[in-house]
Amino acid sequence: MRTKAAILVETSKPLIIDELDIPPLHPGQVLVEIKYSGVCHTQLLEVKGLRGKDEFLPHCLGHEGSGMVIEVGKNVKKVKPGDFVILSWMKGIGENVNSAVYDWKGKKVNAGAITTFSNHAVISENRLTLASKNISLKEAALIGCAMPTGLGTIFNTTSAKPGQSIAIFGCGGIGLSAIQGAKIAGCVPIIAVDINPSKLLIAKELGATHTIDASKQDPIKTIQEITSLDFAIEASGSSIAMNQAILSVKNQGGTVVIAGNAPHGTFLSIDPKQFNLGKKILGTWGGDNDPDSHFPKYSKLLEFKYFNTQPFTKNIYSLDNIEKALDDLEKGKVLRPLIDMTIG
Ligand SMILES: [Zn+2]
Repeated sequence: MRTKAAILVETSKPLIIDELDIPPLHPGQVLVEIKYSGVCHTQLLEVKGLRGKDEFLPHCLGHEGSGMVIEVGKNVKKVKPGDFVILSWMKGIGENVNSAVYDWKGKKVNAGAITTFSNHAVISENRLTLASKNISLKEAALIGCAMPTGLGTIFNTTSAKPGQSIAIFGCGGIGLSAIQGAKIAGCVPIIAVDINPSKLLIAKELGATHTIDASKQDPIKTIQEITSLDFAIEASGSSIAMNQAILSVKNQGGTVVIAGNAPHGTFLSIDPKQFNLGKKILGTWGGDNDPDSHFPKYSKLLEFKYFNTQPFTKNIYSLDNIEKALDDLEKGKVLRPLIDMTIG
């Protein structure tokens, strides 16, 4: 069986769209017909070669999506053919199988445990979660990356409580999900910081009580005028914003979570006094989620409209047009491109 895929052959060059031969399934692998795939900054960094030396070229890409199970390999118990699934790089229960290797006219094309920029993909069982029947597959695709990272950063990493104050640096997919999570958690005030006015407008619509354009105002000073800040979430991947987040939280108990993905080679220099002041600086593994228990809960937030998916689902592209999706994401023209595999 063959499938159409977007292949990264050389970094900083356009992806090549071509047919690949799908290999027979190994134990623990699942063949999925992809319906939707998200596109995020991780793939932008990969395509640009900004994640360090890429030893796997040529390879497939993508790590969040939704689809239908076509075939399962030996030992797979979690899903069966016909099931609708969420695809995510976050590891859940099930077999962990590292890579699928496709055949491209006699050449090998690598893929990780999960890839989604193709009509079909061979995916490790533990990267699949059953999708709720009460939400669309378009919405289910969102539960693979930025949305659970943003929500998990609030619910799992910080455990923020009602009445606690929070600032979100960077209003992309992770940041806007964190803002919605902070609203659900009852945080107040919720301060959104970005340098893109259109993203700040969306932040306000989604629950930010205050917005700060960091290209015009000093976010540290402005935040300190608004509140004594309990939490700061850094979701832009900029080392400048990371330092601003650290300096913004209150002494004795202020907590910063670094959730943004910085380009390879970025370093952060922190005045150690910030630690002596009793601030906590935390990392997060994509919001510290356990997909099998957390994704069904996030699905309910979508189902009952506690989470507004509209800003994340309105920019749809075909697989053939994936270069434009990457370009629009890089230029900040769109918040979250979604690839609809059913469009020719
Ligand atoms: Zn992602």
